[in-house]
Amino acid sequence: MSATDGQATRELVLERIGADERFVLVTHEHPDGDALGSLLGMHGLLGALGKRSETFISPDDLPLPREYRTLPFDALITEPPADIAERTVIFLDCGNIDRIAAEELRGGAHLLNIDHHHDNTGFGTLNLVDPTASCTAEIVWGLMVELGVAPAGAVAEALYVGLITDTGRFMYENTTPRSHEMAGALLEAGVDVAAVYKRLYEDMPVGKLTLLALALAQLRRFDDGELTIASLSAEDFRSAGAEESYSEGIIDQLRAVEGTKVAALVRELSSGERKGQHKVSLRATGDDVDVSVIARAQGGGGHRRAAGFTTALAAQDLVAFLREAIARQLHPQQEGRPEPAPA
Ligand code: AMP
Ligand code: MN
Ligand code: MN
Repeated sequence: MSATDGQATRELVLERIGADERFVLVTHEHPDGDALGSLLGMHGLLGALGKRSETFISPDDLPLPREYRTLPFDALITEPPADIAERTVIFLDCGNIDRIAAEELRGGAHLLNIDHHHDNTGFGTLNLVDPTASCTAEIVWGLMVELGVAPAGAVAEALYVGLITDTGRFMYENTTPRSHEMAGALLEAGVDVAAVYKRLYEDMPVGKLTLLALALAQLRRFDDGELTIASLSAEDFRSAGAEESYSEGIIDQLRAVEGTKVAALVRELSSGERKGQHKVSLRATGDDVDVSVIARAQGGGGHRRAAGFTTALAAQDLVAFLREAIARQLHPQQEGRPEPAPA
């Protein structure tokens, strides 16, 4: 999307928001800090404009991970509304419509797709996709600035949660001067940085540390350490007394291991339709591997340096797939090289 297209789309989105009265806000399954922060930010924006909006979260995703439980979702719905055909549905932080829990949500009068994934499939009737934004919350904040709505209280805090989780506390390469401008504005609005930090990264249930220990104890490295991988079974979660969300952050430890090009965390799903299958999180340490390409090959997606997919592949086949997919990007010259001619 060129800057001009981007501006034109932004104006169309603002027009839509101005014209419509009833909205449903939706994000991807297993919502993270940016998903939840941008939902609450958009809800706050619409509320300030006097619009009616509700936030849909699937019952499968409730209760939310503990660190997000204090976010105030006061207009939460867990079923698509009966009048969906008369509402505008706003998809936030969702690169792909298949990551939405309820099919019926595709049936809105208008579908606004607001996101920052570079591989967004453009499924909306309007697509405001800005891959230069560090997080979807940053796009929502930008719309607020344009509309003259000042984020305050819980809305400012939710936007801040989206910002720090997606930028790895301002340390990932998606962090820009604009991310820091947004942080500055939110601090001006009264966000209590230390309180948010404590809620997200401290006050940790001991099961989270036990789970990390289990993952680290069976860490494996392949191809001179280019791939660093750890797996957690449903039994590991059970024995650690861990909820699914406790594995968040483990991948960052794997990525930090010297020599790693790609880190992978494999988790066995213990509930839902895909029970027994594995959710794979991928992180790249540099520009030489685009992990979103690898994830897309398995029906997932994401960013160049952070992507994921869910698979029914057996453990060994998964490792073989990952090694080959990484090698194809890192060592393309070795790919399909003809056998040397006999002398
Ligand atoms: P995660 O490893 O779950 O933290 O996800 C890292 C990134 O990959 C996020 O930007 C997600 O939106 C994206 N992602 C993870 N799983 C999937 C999936 N199954 N389909 C598409 N994108 C995904
Ligand atoms: Mn997300
Ligand atoms: Mn995001």
